[in-house]
Amino acid sequence: MSDFQLFIDGEFCEAASGDTFETLDPSTGESVGTVAKAGADDAARAIDAARAAFDDGRWSFKRGSERGKILAAVAKGIKDRAPELAELESRDSGATIMKAKGADIGSAVFWFRTMGEYASRLDEPESLPQTISPGPSYNYLVRDPVGVCTAIIPWNFPLQMAAWKISMALAAGNTIVLKPAPETPCTATRLAEIMRDAGVPDGVVNIIPGPGPGTGEELVSNPRVDKVAFTGSTEVGRQIMQMAANTVKKTTLELGGKSAQVVLDDADLDLAVDGVLYGIFFHAGQICTAGSRLLLPDALYDTFVERLLDRVGDIKVGPANDPASTMGPLVSQKQLDTVLGYIELGSKEGATLATGGTRLTDGGLDRGFFVAPTIFTDVTPDMTIAREEIFGPVLSVLRYDDEDDAVRIANGTDYGLSAAVWGSPTRAMKIAGRLQAGTVWVNEYHLLNPHYPFGGYKQSGIGREHGYLGLLEYTEPKHVHVGIDPSRRNKRWFDMTIPRRR
Ligand code: NAD
Repeated sequence: MSDFQLFIDGEFCEAASGDTFETLDPSTGESVGTVAKAGADDAARAIDAARAAFDDGRWSFKRGSERGKILAAVAKGIKDRAPELAELESRDSGATIMKAKGADIGSAVFWFRTMGEYASRLDEPESLPQTISPGPSYNYLVRDPVGVCTAIIPWNFPLQMAAWKISMALAAGNTIVLKPAPETPCTATRLAEIMRDAGVPDGVVNIIPGPGPGTGEELVSNPRVDKVAFTGSTEVGRQIMQMAANTVKKTTLELGGKSAQVVLDDADLDLAVDGVLYGIFFHAGQICTAGSRLLLPDALYDTFVERLLDRVGDIKVGPANDPASTMGPLVSQKQLDTVLGYIELGSKEGATLATGGTRLTDGGLDRGFFVAPTIFTDVTPDMTIAREEIFGPVLSVLRYDDEDDAVRIANGTDYGLSAAVWGSPTRAMKIAGRLQAGTVWVNEYHLLNPHYPFGGYKQSGIGREHGYLGLLEYTEPKHVHVGIDPSRRNKRWFDMTIPRRR
């Protein structure tokens, strides 16, 4: 029996094919366990379970307030199992144990609790402007669940991302099939146990680790699915959109980024230097919001770079399970190769490698996928490392003349997920207003919250997640028009088709 099984229709099971795969600890290259490998047939079975659970109303007919109570119980279940989940998340994804405990578990709890609270807001119809023309009517809006949702998530924040997608889908009354990334399947299957124990009915949540081709494609193309929520690369996002188009599915896409951090010349340097380093090197840069382009004004360029280089050595790269590590490994050999490839390209295209740039192997790191925090200076906007998402610990430092130039460079990208401005709040907020990004932090970085919408401009995505706005993406708005004049005589518009008898 595999260590991490599929969860379909309330039961843990092996894949129909009996196939399994190993998931590896990126700090050591050792196996974390065997995982049942869902194929397209398992995906279809999970969709059928979610379809039946949605159609008989075992979840969607519950009041939002009732669903909210169960989601609060899920939040409590996660909290109760926090140490075990944090340890597993750290081993499977390479999240430092400090991050797993401090960010991943807390976020999962926060989302289930908050979306549970939002669920009851959907119980009451929203009133709409009442009209008397052409006839008097009473109008209101209800928010129905969309139906069967499928969610496909990446490997960088496996538990948080599973919690985000499931909590929003369930709060709105949908059922869901979630496919974690094959690199990081473990904590999502533990979440399935927690949801079952908290009273989520069978079939409402189904979790099927497996590959993108075949399994993931079934989740996007199956006609019994109503909505696809995808988080991953822009490249795969494009394919998802094309596949979903055949059956005109509702689609939300949370894709890649190349976020700019603009430092103004009146920034508090102690705050900005550490903030910039946190913005790029948190979770070894494997974050869609990573602030991978640093924009410095000419006058501050040398001083700021000097201070960055002085501070970057304080980042403690080490095994994810070491409480002293503040930066862990990359998730896989493949990601290591990608990142080292970009570093080589950066030097080739003429950027100056100011620090890092190498794989780290000393002190027992040789079996893991560790890269030193890397900073390139003298980067120009046309260079590949300034344009493409690297998804690793690589910062590109660019130079700007004045605020207009900073805004032009910051917006000069196909992406638009997030950005930051470091400087006096009034000036920084003015710049924030000109940036094309779904989230702009001022003197802050990376903080997400279930109350605030999150998503991308341009090729960083479609739609928003989180906040009430994000929850609404999991609903179908239904307008109900009640004619309140009972007299046939007054309904003159009927006469255009079926004249009244005189
Ligand atoms: P990826 O696009 O390679 O894979 C994401 C998921 O899609 C995985 O579960 C994968 O198995 C699946 N998949 C791959 N091909 C598929 C196909 N043809 N059909 C269906 N599913 C398929 O991304 P990744 O390498 O796992 O993650 C890194 C990317 O995710 C980065 O680009 C990053 O910016 C992005 N990301 C975005 C956000 C956001 O909220 N905007 C958050 C985290 C990560």
